[in-house]
Amino acid sequence: MKAVVYKGPFTVAVEDVEKPSIQHPNDVIVRVTSTAICGSDLHMYEGRTAAEPGIVFGHENMGIIEDLGPGVTTLKEGDRVVMPFNVACGFCMNCVEGYTGFCITVNPGFAGGAYGYVAMGPWQGGQAEYVRVPYADFNCLKLPQGNEHESDFILLADIFPTGYHGCELAQVRPGESVAVYGAGPVGLMAAYSALLRGARKVFVVDRVPERLQKAEEIGAIPINFAEGDPVEQIEEQTEGIGTDKGVDAVGYQATAQGTDNEEPATVLNSLVRTVRPTGALGVPGLYVPSDPGGPDEQAKQGMLLVAIGRLFEKGLRMGTGQCNVKRYNRFLRDMIIDGRAKPSFVVSHELPLDQASSAYDKFDKRIEGFTKVVLHP
Ligand code: ZN
Ligand code: ZN
Repeated sequence: MKAVVYKGPFTVAVEDVEKPSIQHPNDVIVRVTSTAICGSDLHMYEGRTAAEPGIVFGHENMGIIEDLGPGVTTLKEGDRVVMPFNVACGFCMNCVEGYTGFCITVNPGFAGGAYGYVAMGPWQGGQAEYVRVPYADFNCLKLPQGNEHESDFILLADIFPTGYHGCELAQVRPGESVAVYGAGPVGLMAAYSALLRGARKVFVVDRVPERLQKAEEIGAIPINFAEGDPVEQIEEQTEGIGTDKGVDAVGYQATAQGTDNEEPATVLNSLVRTVRPTGALGVPGLYVPSDPGGPDEQAKQGMLLVAIGRLFEKGLRMGTGQCNVKRYNRFLRDMIIDGRAKPSFVVSHELPLDQASSAYDKFDKRIEGFTKVVLHP
């Protein structure tokens, strides 16, 4: 079968690899109909991780069940399903508490598994014609038959729940004001989720005009940090108080204001300033324990200079960590089915799988409007 294979920094190729097969009674094989490229794939693509050439990428996958192990009880051939990017067992101490992003069964020695991702276990990615799904009864979310809402449902694998998770970590409530840093796909999903949760005012901070335009289209207030300190701009629109809540949808590859230099703590420190005393921060943006591409020695070891003193003084709470997709994907699916949510406004390109190589290149360079790419094998 054809699959997107990592060849080395800044290179992927669509190559023939062995088609996956049932290896455990609770596996299914899904024929992939849609698979999305994620900003976090770029961390591997750019050679900033320990990913070795040969890995098949793709953690955002959906499709049709083609083959089932004898232990699968709730699914059948032909079912249309979307899988959380988290591979999870459903029965370990973290899974039973709903923390499926921290499953201790699927990736021994580390909490949490994912398809096609370095250090996240042996699970082959789904940017391919087929993907093997373990613990399939737990990991497959059933979808209505047919092909309606395909570009909405694919976002249930990661970014829609991840944006929602940012709001959950920040405990966004109806009537509150929220500052979302980053208007990439996850930031836009966080802003969209804040509005779905009844937030009164949602600010979205970025410097790319087209992204800010998208934020405005969904009813958020765009804040361009190239035009001045974003914290001051938000203060001016919140009676000098700041927002109730904040979401970091950027992570460690943040850019300092007025430059193109990476400054990994800049978003966290801006949020500490932006959010009012006793507010809360949600941090779904990615931070890593080691970053060979970091701008200084400490950053390379995942240590950043964060204004912890100010955070304490303001009594701010902070929630972190990758999304437990399974906690949210069922009701977000139902909102899509009922027409209450249409997250596909972030999808910029839908392309055949064999155009993956140029799609990665353009997405990585942020050119030709490449923001969220869905591939169809
Ligand atoms: Zn993703
Ligand atoms: Zn588990």
